[in-house]
Parts: sequence; C-alpha cells; structure tokens
Amino acid sequence: MKTSPLGRTGLEISRLCFGTLTVGPAQADLSVEEAADIICYAVDQGVNLIDTAEYYDNYSLIRHVLRQSGSQPYIATKTYAYSRQQAESSLEQARRETGLDGIDLFLLHEQESVLTLDGHREAFTYLIEQREAGRIRAVGVSTHAVEPVLALAQAVGQTDAQPSSVWRREQLDAGIYREADVIHPLLNLSGVGILDGTAEDMTDACRLARQAGIGLYGMKMLGGGTLLSRFDEAVRYVLDLPFLDGVAVGMQSKLEVDMNVALFEQRTVPEQWLAESRARRRVLKIEDWCTGCGQCVGRCGESALRLVDGKAVVDRGRCVLCGYCAAVCRDFAIKIY
Ligand code: SF4
Ligand code: SF4
Repeated sequence: MKTSPLGRTGLEISRLCFGTLTVGPAQADLSVEEAADIICYAVDQGVNLIDTAEYYDNYSLIRHVLRQSGSQPYIATKTYAYSRQQAESSLEQARRETGLDGIDLFLLHEQESVLTLDGHREAFTYLIEQREAGRIRAVGVSTHAVEPVLALAQAVGQTDAQPSSVWRREQLDAGIYREADVIHPLLNLSGVGILDGTAEDMTDACRLARQAGIGLYGMKMLGGGTLLSRFDEAVRYVLDLPFLDGVAVGMQSKLEVDMNVALFEQRTVPEQWLAESRARRRVLKIEDWCTGCGQCVGRCGESALRLVDGKAVVDRGRCVLCGYCAAVCRDFAIKIY
C-alpha cells in the first residue's frame, strides 16, 4: 500500500486508513474480537492509520488491535474537549484505555466554524503543549465544514489568501492555531454532508491548507452511503485529489477490506465485488418506539432529522450516516443497518 508523508508531522500514512465508527455500537455493532479481526486484516495489508474518537467509545477495541496486530499502526483520536481540564482528561483516558504512552494524532472533533475553533482554543493549546512534551505526535481538527479548513490554512500559512470559489468567511484570530498539523475533512464527489459549501469549495480550501504544510486525511468519501451506486467513481475522485495524504474508510468485513485495498492500490477489482458494493445500501431506521424527545434532532449537524407527529423522521438526502444521532437516543430507537 502506497504511503505519503502526512504534512510536516513526520508520519508516513497509508492512502487507505481504517475508520472505526462503522464497526461500533452505532452501526455494525460487532464484538471486539470480530472488529479487531477485520482491522488487523487491513493492517496486514498495509493500512497503517486507525481512526477513532473518544465519542466512538471503542478504545478497548484499539487496545485489542494493538495487542493482536504484529505491526504498530498509527492511532488517531478526537475529543470534544474545550477546556484545558477536559483536554487533559481526554488525553489521559485515551492513553489509559488504549494502553499507549502517547497518541499519534489528537484532533478536536467536529469543528464546524471559526466560532467553534475560538471556543476550543484552550483545549487546543493544551494539546499543543502535550505535543511539545512528547505525549502526542500531531494535533489538528476534524470537520464537516469549509470555514475551519480555510481558517487553519490561513493561520498556518500566515496568509489571508482566499480561493476564488469560497466566499468571504469569518476571520480567525490565528494565535495557537498557527501550530495546527492536521485536518481531517469531510470530502466527496458530490459534496454531500459539507455543511457550508460545495465539494469545490472544500477542495479549494484543502488545497490552500496543503500549501500551508498541513497534513490532510479525508472522510466520508461515499457520503455516508449515498454514493454507493457510484462507488468506483467516488473512490477515484478522492484518490485523484493530490492534497489528500489518506482517506479514512469505515469497513465492516474482510471483503470490504479486500475491495478497498485493491481500489486504493489501483488494481482491477472483480466486477462482482463492485456490483455488491453498489447494491449494498446502508440505511438509518427509526424504530416505532421513538418517543419524540427530539434529542437526535438537536444532535444532527446535517439538519437531516425533524419531528413529525411526535416521531423523528430522517431526510435520507441529507443524512451521511455518521451515527451521532443514535448515540444520543436513550431509547435506542435509531439503528444503522
Ligand atoms: S432521540 Fe430517540 S426517542 Fe428521541 S426523538 Fe430521536 S429517535 Fe426518537
Ligand atoms: S441523521 Fe443521524 S446519522 Fe444521519 S447525518 Fe444526522 S446525526 Fe448523522
């Protein structure tokens, strides 16, 4: 598997990275053993970055993978911390539960605007200090929006350059954000899931981020399943983006690993595998016992949920199957199959 330097971090990451949300409780809900088996199978084929998050609640799986795997893949995690104290607690939890002394990539989770970055400045400062202390190798953000990508590109590149396709956005007081190493942006062929712009806006902002020396690995290349019918085209699209060092893909079986590895290595993939992938359609289902509490509606950053006659209803055109709504439903009424 081809590897690329992740910006200036010193990490050499595989083009295909393993996104672990899809094997967890919000989606396939595999046992730790089953999920670890699939991840280790991918690692054996050269996948060397495993992407998780405190929110995915699967550090025990990561620990299992690290014990089972013969090699030592990089671990990326994310936190919603905004204060120093919360960031400290997030880092300690990640170290304790994965069994690692240090974490390779630590990202602020779901940074959706300049305002969000401003609100997380204290946590970001703590993470940078821990990078300097050697407990983290690289620090950054994950985002579904163009604005933070552009703001970090400008902060790190010390420029106010604006790509032509991106309209004027909020300015970030750069400060500590000049130290950002990595961005994990949502990016796909049709731009589905991008909160504040088009695929072109996002690629323009990512290009600027790359010019500033920021490492980038993407997510949601299939738009949460909405691009499954254009599977091979969607994969080709992200592989042709010269500024993406890697792409995190959620995989739920060894067959999916085989197919993605082959596609990322630009080998011919049996037509039958592609046909199965195009036909496979993950769906979000809201069960009859939904009480209409509205928790999920407030949690969905894509505005894909609303209440109708006292029940949650999903707009499949907007849903990127991130599973975040399922995690806040105390009645376990949301499932992704
Ligand atoms: S959080 Fe669960 S119970 Fe509440 S509205 Fe959403 S699906 Fe229904
Ligand atoms: S409806 Fe749920 S799974 Fe779909 S985008 Fe919103 S939070 Fe994510």
